[in-house]
Formats: sequence, C-alpha cells, structure tokens
Amino acid sequence: MTTDSMPYRLFLDGAYCLGNGGPSRPLINPSTGEAFAEVESAGVDQVALAAESAQRALDGVWRDLVPGKRAEILFRIAAVLRENTEELARLESLQVGKPIGDSRDEVGLGARIFEYYAGGISRFYGQTIPVARGGLDFTLRQPLGVVAAIVPWNFPFAIACWKVAPALAAGNAVLLKPASLSPLTALKLGELAHAAGLPAGVLQVLTGSGGVLGDALVTHPLIRKVSFTGSTSVGRRIMNLASQNLTRISLELGGKSPNIVFADADWEKAADTSPLSVFANIGQDCCARSRVYVERPIYEAFVARFVAATRRLIVGDPFDPATQLGPMVSAEQRSSVEEYLQDARRSGSRIQCGGGRLDSKGFYLEPVILTEVRPEHRCWREEIFGPVAAVVPFDDEASMLSDVNASPYGLSGSVWTRDLSRALRTTRIIQSGVLSVNTHSSVHVEAPFGGFKQSGFGRDLGMAAMEGYSELKNVYVAE
Ligand code: NAP
Ligand code: MG
Repeated sequence: MTTDSMPYRLFLDGAYCLGNGGPSRPLINPSTGEAFAEVESAGVDQVALAAESAQRALDGVWRDLVPGKRAEILFRIAAVLRENTEELARLESLQVGKPIGDSRDEVGLGARIFEYYAGGISRFYGQTIPVARGGLDFTLRQPLGVVAAIVPWNFPFAIACWKVAPALAAGNAVLLKPASLSPLTALKLGELAHAAGLPAGVLQVLTGSGGVLGDALVTHPLIRKVSFTGSTSVGRRIMNLASQNLTRISLELGGKSPNIVFADADWEKAADTSPLSVFANIGQDCCARSRVYVERPIYEAFVARFVAATRRLIVGDPFDPATQLGPMVSAEQRSSVEEYLQDARRSGSRIQCGGGRLDSKGFYLEPVILTEVRPEHRCWREEIFGPVAAVVPFDDEASMLSDVNASPYGLSGSVWTRDLSRALRTTRIIQSGVLSVNTHSSVHVEAPFGGFKQSGFGRDLGMAAMEGYSELKNVYVAE
C-alpha cells in the first residue's frame, strides 16, 4: 500500500510496482498550489510487459470464466468501491480540486456503472437469423482482447469506470492510462478491483506521460482497441496511429454545447439551473452548456437571472462541504481560460460577472458570463474548458439552429420549451450525440453517451459501450 508520503506506484499484474520511466513526478493540490504526493512513471517497455501479462490473464482465466462468475466479480468490485467511498473521494478532491460532495457522487456513479455492467453480462447476447437457405445462423459477441483506456483529469474516476467496466463485462482485459494530473483514483481502482477478486493482469494501471506512453499503447499489436477521452489534437494523433494495426478506436473529444431557451419555456427554471450546466466542475466538462441562446423577448430578464444565480455559487475550498465550485485543475488550465477572457475583452464582449482569481494560492477563477459575443469570436467557437458561458439573443428558430450546427463539435445540449412539436423538431435537427429537454442532464449510466462530428465517435455507457468492446461473429450451421 502506498501513502501520500511515498511515491504512488504503477499497478501491474496484480501488484504495485516501480516505474522505470524516469524520476517520480509531483502531484499538485490545485486548491493550494502545493505538491502533496509523488507518482512513478511507467517506461515504454512496461507498456509491452503490461500488454503481454494482460493477454496471459485473458487467455489463462478471464476469457473463459463463465458469465455468472464475471458478473459476480463486477458486483463485488462495485461493493468494494462503495466501501471505499471516503478514501476515493478524498484522493479525487486532492488531485483535481473537485468539491468533496461531487467527488463522493462520482465514486457512487462509478460503483453504479460496475453494477449496471455486471447485470448487463446476462443481457449481452447474439441473435438467430433466418437466412434464406435454411440451416441455423447465429451471432456471438466475443471480446476484442486487450483494450487500452486513456482517460482525462476532469472526471478521472467516473470516466475510468465507464471505460473499464463495460470492457471487463464484455470479457476483455484493460490497460488504464490515467491523466498525469489525476492518477490516484485510477490506481486505487486497480487495487480495489483486484482485492474484489478480479484476476491479476485483467486490469492494470500505467501512470506516466501520455506523450511518452501514448504511441506505444496505441501501436502495440496486442492492443485491440483504444478508448480515449480528451483533447481533439490527441484524438487525431490516436486515429492516425491506430491505422497501423487497424486498431479499433472510440474517441470522446469534448464540445461546445448549446443551451437553447425559447420564450415559451419555464425560462426562470432554465436560468436558475443554467449556472451549474456550464460551471459545474468549474467548467471543465465536455458537456458544459457554454453557448446560451435565448429567444429575444426573454433575453434581458434571462441574463439578469442567470447572472444573479451565478453570483450565488460558492467558489472555495474543495473540502468545505458548502463549496459548489473548486479551483481549476492547474495553473496552465486557468491561464488558458484567462487568455480567452482577454480575447473576449479585446473583441468587445461584456463580462457580466466573474473572471477574478480568489485571494489564494489555489487555481481559482470566478465563473464568467459574457454577452455581446459575435459568431466569429473565439469564445463562441472554441471549447474553453473552463468557467465561461456566452449568451446571445435569437429571433428566428431556423437561423439559430443553423448557428448551433455550424460548430465543428456535437456532443450535448439542452432545449427549453413547453411546445412538444418544437422540442421534437429541434432535437431531431441538432447535430449532437446527447440532448436534453427542459433539464441539463446528459449522462445516464443506462444510455449511450458520445459525440457527432469532431466531438468524436463511438459510445460510452449504456449497452452500446459493451457492444463497442466486442466483435460480432456470425456462425452458420448447415441443416
Ligand atoms: P489530453 O492531452 O488530450 O489528455 C487526455 C489523456 O490523453 C490523458 O491521459 C493524457 O495523458 C493522454 N495523452 C496525452 N498525449 C497523448 C498521446 N500523444 N497519446 C495518447 N494519449 C495521450 O488533454 P489535456 O492536455 O489534459 O487537456 C487539453 C484540452 O483537452 C482541454 O483544455 C480540453 O479542451 C480537452 N479535454 C477534453 C476532455 C473531454 O472530456 N472530452 C477532457 C479533458 C480535456 P497526460 O495527462 O499524461 O498528458
Ligand atoms: Mg495534453
């Protein structure tokens, strides 16, 4: 077992072990700006060793374990995660600055994901197909083999679980590569899954820089799929490299999601709930509703109420239970947001609230609402990945929708209206993988989650994710 006072190690083949990828790296607590732990880095050769031991674990035990046994282990992992909620939540809040209540919720979500896919194992099956020439034709869902899951720092535990659990449920082994900023809950997931009965080698956790380990993971011939969540640039690189071995990939690359409020809607409710639809997790959320379109007759009133609700949000120490928004994850991430704000000021946008740092060494930034934003402005077009919302009025549904769809992204979005036809029409037209009507909720364990266009492809969550970790085989038996 590691403690905060010694370097955290990699979790390979059922045990913690040293990394040979150079000196250990410090982890910074974003709420203090100070180092609180160190973590070892895997060397490139350890990627190959991990892939080989994963393959051995797959061939030796995991692939042929009866489905009921696999389900039992996944249920037990969920139970062990729940038992360790406090420790996991503490580590999550320390490494990324998330408010402790949000971290506990994230651990609960992770456990629910394991329960869902444990149950999914007995509902994951092929078909019998009446082929023209008679005989018996049936399909089988078979595991891909060893899968690499490369995950970001914004929801480190939940995203790790939503890649690992369906991959394991479908009978694969997984190499998990957490973000450099957030390795601790991923390591703990590896340890706890093993303690819950997952055979050694079936889930391994490689810490270290994506820039160093990424290419080796993506191009290793034993890796049959790379499931990635993160930036568009890294997604592109993975897609290029995956062509070498025709490795399967799924990419979730963020968004610039709309929040559309029609005048007929319960717009007060929309205004009251919109702050957390964009500022939750201090805006570091691929689903953040960062482009707010408000129909002209309610525009002024909406902005006033949205700003007032935003000013009420409590920004502060992640370990204070009253805190709703913690610091940003790193000084670099905050600087990148501040550059966007300078650009917005130069372009003539108005900052209605926020934008200040707190009197603290932590990476705090007060949530910002921009108005007077034009379609060509960077703040309107690019994913900021921080606490910035831009609000514009619209007059006409069709031209508003064409602006919505002009974004290269298409991940999520909200539509607020009491008109059912309008809700059905707009949700059909918007080019986005996930939409919500009269709410901002995007993520449901049971439902597919993923993007259109440059938000990526492939789906996390729901049974769609499990399908994505399997090959579909067809068998024909002559009569
Ligand atoms: P990123 O570089 O794409 O990081 C995501 C994951 O990919 C991390 O585990 C990272 O490891 C790894 N990685 C980095 N370079 C890699 C490579 N060459 N091959 C394979 N894996 C690699 O994202 P970031 O630098 O943390 O954030 C930059 C921007 O990405 C954000 O501002 C935001 O716009 C976007 N983003 C989107 C999401 C999302 O949910 N879709 C999440 C996070 C970030 P290291 O941490 O070790 O580099
Ligand atoms: Mg990066």
